[in-house]
Amino acid sequence: MTIRPDSTLAPAAARPRPGLDEARAAMREVFGFPDFRPGQGEILDAVLAGEDVLAVMPTGRGKSLCFQLPAILRGGLTLVVSPLIALMRDQVAALQSAGVEAASLTSADDAEAREATWRKLDEGSLRLLYMAPERLAAPGLAQRLGRAGLSLIAVDEAHCVSQWGHDFRPDYLRIAELARAAGSPQIAAFTATADAAARRDIAARLFTREPREFVAGFDRPNIFLGVGARQSGAAQVLDFIRARPGRAGIVYCTSRKGCDDMAERLRKAGIDALAYHAGLESAERSARQDRFVQSDSLVMCATVAFGMGVDKPDVRFVVHAGLPKSMEAYYQEIGRAGRDGDPADTLMLWTLGDAALRRRQINESESDAARKQMELRRLGALIAYCEAPRCRRQTLLAYFGDASEPCGHCDLCLDPPELIDGAVLAQKAMSAIARTGQRFGLEHLVTVLRGGDTDKVREHGHDALPTYGVGADLTRTQWMGVFRQLFAAGLIDQPVDGHGEWVITPAGREVLFGRASVALRPPQAGREAASRGGPAPEAADVLRTGEARRLYAALRAKRLELAQAAGKPAYTVFADRTLVELAQKRPASLQAMEGVFGVGSRKLERYGAAFLAVIAAHR
Ligand code: ADP
Ligand code: ZN
Repeated sequence: MTIRPDSTLAPAAARPRPGLDEARAAMREVFGFPDFRPGQGEILDAVLAGEDVLAVMPTGRGKSLCFQLPAILRGGLTLVVSPLIALMRDQVAALQSAGVEAASLTSADDAEAREATWRKLDEGSLRLLYMAPERLAAPGLAQRLGRAGLSLIAVDEAHCVSQWGHDFRPDYLRIAELARAAGSPQIAAFTATADAAARRDIAARLFTREPREFVAGFDRPNIFLGVGARQSGAAQVLDFIRARPGRAGIVYCTSRKGCDDMAERLRKAGIDALAYHAGLESAERSARQDRFVQSDSLVMCATVAFGMGVDKPDVRFVVHAGLPKSMEAYYQEIGRAGRDGDPADTLMLWTLGDAALRRRQINESESDAARKQMELRRLGALIAYCEAPRCRRQTLLAYFGDASEPCGHCDLCLDPPELIDGAVLAQKAMSAIARTGQRFGLEHLVTVLRGGDTDKVREHGHDALPTYGVGADLTRTQWMGVFRQLFAAGLIDQPVDGHGEWVITPAGREVLFGRASVALRPPQAGREAASRGGPAPEAADVLRTGEARRLYAALRAKRLELAQAAGKPAYTVFADRTLVELAQKRPASLQAMEGVFGVGSRKLERYGAAFLAVIAAHR
């Protein structure tokens, strides 16, 4: 390799404007990535051409590269504004470990570190300066940045400039002021969430010129999607995690106690697990978060607030132990898995009880009627996703307005449910609802169907109904599955202002009276297949021999040792995929290591010998 990051830093004017080929070469050289991800090339092309850019890209697709590579290639200074301090800190650490001159100015840096950063800035040796928005008010900032050769302002989480969103940050309005004072340098803004209206708002508030817009699709193809009925809860989660030993992951629980109990349960089973929720002291919370980021194997049992602003690319799985709040929330939460692009697994476990609770929360909230209706529709979409009859990814992407082919990488594609004529099952279930006066919850309805003998049955004389006992051939769990499907298909419903009773919708009546048909999945016997989650975990999958797996384990141990010695997260040394490739290819020299994913020249220099020694010891 000949280009070194430092040697590319001749003054911008001395070189012709770098293009996409140079960007690709620099990416391979500095970061060791073989190629651009979808969307990156187009955005880079525009940024390198000097255009103002507004790009919407799902989390984890690699927005940072779109301003980091131009910063590295062009010389001059790139100012990066982001509200997420922990994330900035990690990006700066990752850049430094790849040999790029980057620094941050945030409240998390002490006075001495800030002083050193200002000095580097004045010397003109910085390529990227990460700054928290509240720092933009520093007096004389525009002049100082101007002298340092400011050529690009990169704005992360650009939706924070929009007053409509709930993420509005008044300090973001300073960005446009700063840009004007600094002679209107190029601006590249990025966000994971902005519909057309929000994009117009961002364009008006942030840019002095009309930006080029890019909207990348919502798909995250490396994430396996799985959903299952919750039966034993913790035991299902444990099974899932046991099939993925030594992997870092998140288990989202719905309550603080749920987090504590889950972590306890996992620890008892010998899994390195911690709880994270708002009930913990904030110092303890950040200590746990740090441990998670650094680790390559910790399982965090957390409430959904966990993960926001945590830049951990090697989260290998996300489990929802209960129904998420909405499709949007679900998409965001599973999106915290596999940000490095390597295979990652997700599993959501839910019950109709979760849906009923959520419905009650919506109903009891302060929102007005229109808002409640909207929330309920969104809940309905989530339930329909859970009980989707075909490719889950298609259903998910369709919700966000993207069309796609069946993905081959979800539980339903792997194991397509055979559909049966569900008329008789549906009619039995719905006549139990109708005959009992649409006044009862699921427990009782199933008891009636199965011919159970309870006080409630006798009290209401339900043992005299023609429906009594007509469903004795199915188990309670199987009936629960039938009801879930009927609900997802919109045939039965729970009134918003009710007390958990089930009623039949107009569409349901059509089926009940035989005027419409319904296709259902056959009632599952025993445990639902879906709760097994995704396919075999990635490393075990590619590392077929015991020998390769042993080498992989040794490489991971070396990575941990190096990371701990430097006080840095494991992934800043090497990505998981790099270790997998090393274990497969077993390079015998530094030269042979060059082509391996994630091995840039600086990392080769810094870590190459240490990993070669591990490989040599396994020959
Ligand atoms: P986000 O879009 O959420 O800001 P990041 O920029 O943090 O995402 O990138 C997510 C992860 O993907 C990082 O670990 C980054 O190093 C990695 N990455 C980005 N681009 C590529 C690429 N072209 N090939 C491989 N990995 C990449
Ligand atoms: Zn699919």
